[in-house]
Amino acid sequence: MISDAVVLRVECPACGHRLMDKKAGAIGKIQVKCHKSKHVWEVDLGTDEFKLICGKPIPRRQGVRKSED
Ligand SMILES: [Zn+2]
Repeated sequence: MISDAVVLRVECPACGHRLMDKKAGAIGKIQVKCHKSKHVWEVDLGTDEFKLICGKPIPRRQGVRKSED
């Protein structure tokens, strides 16, 4: 069931794949690799800032091709 610990989902900024869950209040910098898009991110847990360490530059989030054009 729902635990009372607040856990936040952290997603890859490039593809939206779930990278990890972090507990509220977590701080510090970690490196995590996205297994989907293979990006490696340095994540500052305190500020939710992502820095690309390795991998292709981020495609636009709405760059997913849809037949709207
Ligand atoms: Zn990814």
